[in-house]
Amino acid sequence: MSDARITFDTSESGAWGTSESTPMANMTENLNLQRALLRYMSHSPTVRLLDRVKVVSIDREDKEGGLGWPLVHLSNGTTLRTRLLVGADGFNSPVRSYAGISSYGWAYDTQAIVATLNHPERSQFELPNNTAYQRFLPTGPIAFLPLSPTTSSLVWSTKPRLASTLTKADPAVLASMINAAFRLPEVSVRYLHESILDAHDADKPLSHSQIMEEIAWRERSHDISRHSAYNSTSSVVSERGVPPDDSGSLPPLVTSIQPSTIASFPLRYNHTDSYIGEGAGSRTVLIGDAAHTVHPLAGQGLNLGLADVEALARCISSTVMQGGDIGSYTALLPYARERYFENHKVMSAVDKLHKLYSSTAEPVVWARSVGVEVLNELDSVKAALMMNAGAYGRKRNLGSGWDVIASGFSLATGVVNATKIIGGGMTGLLGVGLQSLSKTLNQTNSK
Ligand SMILES: Cc1cc2nc3c(=O)[nH]c(=O)nc-3n(C[C@H](O)[C@H](O)[C@H](O)COP(=O)(O)OP(=O)(O)OC[C@H]3O[C@@H](n4cnc5c(N)ncnc54)[C@H](O)[C@@H]3O)c2cc1C
Repeated sequence: MSDARITFDTSESGAWGTSESTPMANMTENLNLQRALLRYMSHSPTVRLLDRVKVVSIDREDKEGGLGWPLVHLSNGTTLRTRLLVGADGFNSPVRSYAGISSYGWAYDTQAIVATLNHPERSQFELPNNTAYQRFLPTGPIAFLPLSPTTSSLVWSTKPRLASTLTKADPAVLASMINAAFRLPEVSVRYLHESILDAHDADKPLSHSQIMEEIAWRERSHDISRHSAYNSTSSVVSERGVPPDDSGSLPPLVTSIQPSTIASFPLRYNHTDSYIGEGAGSRTVLIGDAAHTVHPLAGQGLNLGLADVEALARCISSTVMQGGDIGSYTALLPYARERYFENHKVMSAVDKLHKLYSSTAEPVVWARSVGVEVLNELDSVKAALMMNAGAYGRKRNLGSGWDVIASGFSLATGVVNATKIIGGGMTGLLGVGLQSLSKTLNQTNSK
């Protein structure tokens, strides 16, 4: 709702002993990740893959003298008896239900639209397509994530009614709405959304040319020059050659959407009370979305799951080396100890960020905009956030980065709450907040 922006650039991360060429993160399409894992498993003689089979039910062996191991009944009639049952079965986890593990959370009243976007290659005068962009609109963030020189991935979190209308619309309409969502002032983005919904309700969906006309009118009324990258309707910007001065501030213009890539998912926050089953649900352990579901605005869901896998594999391996029982509660405890609070910190930071940006109250908008602009000037703080939150931090085991982010957002939320109560003295509070954030960072650095 304001022009405040924060830029993370690996050239600013020198203080952390990295070079400019160290990427902050890598984008990997899920399909490629799955294909690579399947290929790896096909060379592993100890792994047996059962494909096109569903888990129909799970119960506990109750034979006379049985050890109480879980029995997994499959749709092909087979039953598997397991010493340890790992629930990697997503948000509606049948293993979690069997284990009787409760969880807490809430739905966000938000759907995420995903799609693969086509766009022209950046010109020789611009940086290559390796910058991710995210704009925080009050209805939810819209993210543009680079995949190749001419394709990028979209994750657009928005209200369910709009998501449903946009996913059903002509893909050309969706492409224009994506361009507008990154470029127009928020008031016009909101107006376009209302127009699309009204037309849909009246059973007269807006055509692509009608949307383009409306966007062009809005651009003129905001004095957006035909030569600016913020213009998405004028032919000038699509000509190759010297790009507009502000082209680096925005993602490339979306020209079309790849067929069959548009989908939408409901978003929620959910964390189980425990990762290990006990009593009648013993010999079970949860990983990934079966244990925790987080808003995708920071792209951390699968990353948390992969970190769970790493920790659980280490835990099981050490129990095997010691001749222990891999299904026992005590053998699994180090996994839960390592992951539960680590996951909680990331989930809590992401949830706070979502809430902070959902507000349209003026003091909140003002405080968070000033916060973002001040943070944008603090290179060492940004370098720490970048190196800890991205792929580099995980590789170097800089796990405490999310402590910094979580405490940063706790402070920001505290500042925002305080501004709501006292209605003044915000600069002072922000100063205190940032000082504390710097202190946390210095402590992290010295560790
Ligand atoms: C819009 C959106 C964007 C996202 N973007 C990112 C991102 O950029 N980066 C990131 O790290 N994360 C992202 N995530 C999160 C990520 O998709 C999830 O965290 C991840 O897929 C969870 O993996 P999982 O294996 O734990 O669960 P799932 O992916 O849900 O897999 C569970 C599997 O269990 C199977 N299953 C369930 N029940 C049964 C049964 N009875 N029998 C047999 N099989 C069963 C399912 O078929 C499924 O294959 C995003 C999520 C959303 C919604």
